[in-house]
Amino acid sequence: MDKLSIVVPCFNEEESIPLFYSAVNKVLEKILNLEAEYWFVNDGSKDSSLAKMKELREKDKHVHYISFSRNFGKEAALYAGLQNATGNYVVVMDVDLQDPPKFLPKMYDLIKSGQYDSVGCRRVDRKGENKFKSFLSDKFYAVINKISKTQIVPGARDYRMMTRQMVNAVLSMKEYSRFSKGIFSWVGFKTKYLEYHNIERVAGETDWTTWKLFKYAMNGIADFSQAPLNLAVWIGLFSFALSLLGILFIIIRKIVSPASSVFGWASLVAVILLIGGLQLLCIGIIGRYVGKIYLQVKNRPVYIVKEKE
Ligand code: UDP
Ligand code: MG
Repeated sequence: MDKLSIVVPCFNEEESIPLFYSAVNKVLEKILNLEAEYWFVNDGSKDSSLAKMKELREKDKHVHYISFSRNFGKEAALYAGLQNATGNYVVVMDVDLQDPPKFLPKMYDLIKSGQYDSVGCRRVDRKGENKFKSFLSDKFYAVINKISKTQIVPGARDYRMMTRQMVNAVLSMKEYSRFSKGIFSWVGFKTKYLEYHNIERVAGETDWTTWKLFKYAMNGIADFSQAPLNLAVWIGLFSFALSLLGILFIIIRKIVSPASSVFGWASLVAVILLIGGLQLLCIGIIGRYVGKIYLQVKNRPVYIVKEKE
């Protein structure tokens, strides 16, 4: 019999957890010969999420929970869930029912057919979401797919069913800064995407402000592309070429009209400021990568577990 592990990161989701559990259970009942196990990961919630998980665990021994010592972020929660999952298939889902459980049978059929190693879901629209946020996400996908070899499907959610082989590949990536969208793509394997229209959260509120999303996107770019580093090289080459032209101009002017007086201090200051700014920008970019190396070599754990059952 196949076993499906359901990995669910939760942060302040006391209302969603019971709704999620019953919705998923209802769908799974229809799939024959499939045993399910749940791995709820309590990512340092401040509400009674953990109590809700324990309640479910009392009733159903297929429910497990991992509770972190503090909030470590969704990526850490996903990692913890994947490390503990024992099924030969694993599905990762948000608890707020924005990842529709009704797709589970279809995902299972597709993956079971052996044609695919992973079945993901992507939103084809962002109805009900902040316009500015959607605009930024579109730009993010355009940029990262241009500058990184790791391609990310626009609108792809983390909602994804994977074979054991693919899960092991994901777990073999030990990086500290975990950008799952990139990791799922980096490991390769054959993925099928199911499409659907955006669904709003069933309860609670998203914790992702536009600023937080922006930082997340910048991190993802630094994790999966070195193009920003090359930017420094190109800026350097460009200003070098420009200065050669400037020197040429000065020499020619000296020859053509030797008596011309000194002028142009304003433009000089402008140029110094320009170059200085570009240098700081480049140092800043390098700093981002150095910071990432720093975090990685410190080799801190991705998360710390307080309770688990
Ligand atoms: N989440 C988490 N840790 C966090 C933030 C979010 O585990 O620090 C969980 C959250 O409970 C939910 C999922 O990650 O199950 C997606 O979060 P959210 O719905 O806020 O994001 P969105 O759907 O807006 O992308
Ligand atoms: Mg959500």
